[in-house]
Amino acid sequence: MTRFNFEEIGQILRDHQRFAVLGHVRPDGDALGSQLALALSLQQLGKEVRVWNEDGMLEKYSFLPRAELLTKPPSSPENVDVAIALDTAIQNRLGTALAAVRSAKIWINIDHHLSNPGYGNIAYVDPSAPATAEIVFGLIKSQGLPFNRDIAENLYAAISTDTGSFQYPKTSAHTLEIAAELIRAGLDVGRLNQQLYENYPRRRLELLRELLRTMRFRQGDSVASFSLSLKTAAELGVLPEDNEGLIDHLRAIRGVIVAAFFEELTDGKVRVSMRSKSNFVDVCAICQKFGGGGHTLAAGARVRGTLAEVEEKVLEEIGEVLESHS
Ligand code: AMP
Ligand code: MN
Ligand code: MN
Repeated sequence: MTRFNFEEIGQILRDHQRFAVLGHVRPDGDALGSQLALALSLQQLGKEVRVWNEDGMLEKYSFLPRAELLTKPPSSPENVDVAIALDTAIQNRLGTALAAVRSAKIWINIDHHLSNPGYGNIAYVDPSAPATAEIVFGLIKSQGLPFNRDIAENLYAAISTDTGSFQYPKTSAHTLEIAAELIRAGLDVGRLNQQLYENYPRRRLELLRELLRTMRFRQGDSVASFSLSLKTAAELGVLPEDNEGLIDHLRAIRGVIVAAFFEELTDGKVRVSMRSKSNFVDVCAICQKFGGGGHTLAAGARVRGTLAEVEEKVLEEIGEVLESHS
């Protein structure tokens, strides 16, 4: 995997005028926070910046500073010089944003997914980073790009959500040093955490209650899964963003090594989310077998088939991988 240095990216940022800052479909805090942070820095540098995500700004992250900058991409392409993909393991996970930046002469790919093939003219892919926002912070600081409290808040929210509140194994001393620097920029940790973790809509908990009703175990207790049908989602009136993080309840069970979540989608596919608690069980590799990707301990895929078919196929595969290790 090619690793470029920040200087080369910094040069391109200084030398061009029109940018599109993009992130993956079904965005999470890392995608949205990284997009806003880099866009705000570029804007302050005097650049014209578009911030596009197929899904637009999610309701639950709309408290992020300058959240209104992030919109759905336009249906017809606009002129940009440089497209920057953040937190996006494969280019087609940019969804409809991809078509809107057809005119881009230069592609920059900044990401932390192990499965990222390094697309684009410049790819800065660091799988050791717990969040793309940590790389964005490094870029801003090393290149002396504009930095302020709004940028800090977006980066903090991104790092906090992608590390499970600074808990997952890639959380390093460096991560906490960055967090300290972000706090010194003036952000209010208590308020931000409340907005992130104590402001869920009631329907999210009602969804968890339904998911737990479908909870199943395999391979003793080492594989736990639950699933969400379109029917249940409609009955509860939940949004796609409501289920982010619920899989952690399965991972948190003693004895569970792999947690899986299956969500029926409207296009005849099932969204699979997977988490592992053991470096010996690489869920990225499992998801890649189904056309997906991600990280060793957190990965996903979209698999064609009914909920029951995909559950069976994927759980079977997880079972085989676990057996090969026991
Ligand atoms: P999720 O379970 O959706 O939170 O995703 C876990 C990790 O896997 C995230 O870092 C995603 O970017 C990545 N991921 C999820 N779905 C896919 C997919 N279909 N293709 C590639 N990577 C994915
Ligand atoms: Mn992400
Ligand atoms: Mn990420």
